[in-house]
Amino acid sequence: MTTTPLQSIRNFTRQALEQWFTDQGLPAFRGRQVYEWLWKKHARSFSEMTNLPLELRSRLEAAFTLNHLSIDLQQKSSDGTVKVRFKLYDGNLVEGVLIPTEQRLTACISSQVGCNLGCKFCATGFMKNKRNLEPYEIYDQVAAIHAICMEDFGKPLSNIVYMGMGEPLLNYANVLTSTELITSPDGMGMSAKRITVSTAGIAKMIRKLGDDGVRFNLALSLHAPDDAKRSSLMPINDSNDLKTLVAALNYFYEKTKGRITFEYILFDGINETEEDARNLVKLCQQVPGARVNIIEYNAIREADYSKSKEEQRERFIQYLEAQRVVAKVRRSRGKDIDAACGQLANK
Ligand code: SF4
Repeated sequence: MTTTPLQSIRNFTRQALEQWFTDQGLPAFRGRQVYEWLWKKHARSFSEMTNLPLELRSRLEAAFTLNHLSIDLQQKSSDGTVKVRFKLYDGNLVEGVLIPTEQRLTACISSQVGCNLGCKFCATGFMKNKRNLEPYEIYDQVAAIHAICMEDFGKPLSNIVYMGMGEPLLNYANVLTSTELITSPDGMGMSAKRITVSTAGIAKMIRKLGDDGVRFNLALSLHAPDDAKRSSLMPINDSNDLKTLVAALNYFYEKTKGRITFEYILFDGINETEEDARNLVKLCQQVPGARVNIIEYNAIREADYSKSKEEQRERFIQYLEAQRVVAKVRRSRGKDIDAACGQLANK
């Protein structure tokens, strides 16, 4: 006799849960109660749902699985950055990072277990993607990092960046559902403007974000201002070149008026000359409101890149500023625990 695998209750929308209860001849409000336990009260088992009759809890137990992320390892850097390794229901591991600064508490979260895009400077790119994360697996990273914020800093998480392991736009539907859960009053009720989804550049999906009218911000991991250099760092550029990406970003902007940021890691001897800065300014001029985040690189064992020297970085930034490009420098955080940008690899 074959048994049907149980459904994961955390893949149900509120409406679908209400419908399930109605189909069982039970009142729909029970669906709303369960939904609240799942997303607001972070219940980890049906037995915690104490306002449901015992018999109903057993019925739910028999019909559904209730999966959640658990914290496998938590490390704190000397600069206050916290790296969290999460264990998924199937034993896979992903990482999230809490980056505290004076103004904000930012969670950097993962969307896939590994990544197939193979950017040459990124530790995750050396691990093949094993699978996409479910919406609840993305949501749970945010909820867990928010709890750490409350415990360690006494204030809530303020910002979220989808910049951990994986390419978010290759897990499109689940990433969008996770942002809906994070922003919904039934979930964490955060503003979409505090969320940034970062992509290595999948033009077709950037356009789809525009068509879907998303309200969050978008970042493009640019890292080089011309196709030859970018393709040498990021193979995805071969099929999504800069011209195509700029057109897609303009489309996204037209449809959503969302903020667009170019992420730019300065590599020693690769993308740091005045000509590079000039080409970067030209790109910014082609994308409305585009700003630049300059990110300090952290060397990884798997690759032979190193960060630009300080004087070179200063010169580069001064050139951008002189051309009235808004450029912020993101200092490297959490290096000592491999939590910095490009270092996430379940170590
Ligand atoms: S930088 Fe992002 S897209 Fe590139 S390999 Fe790493 S995780 Fe994947």
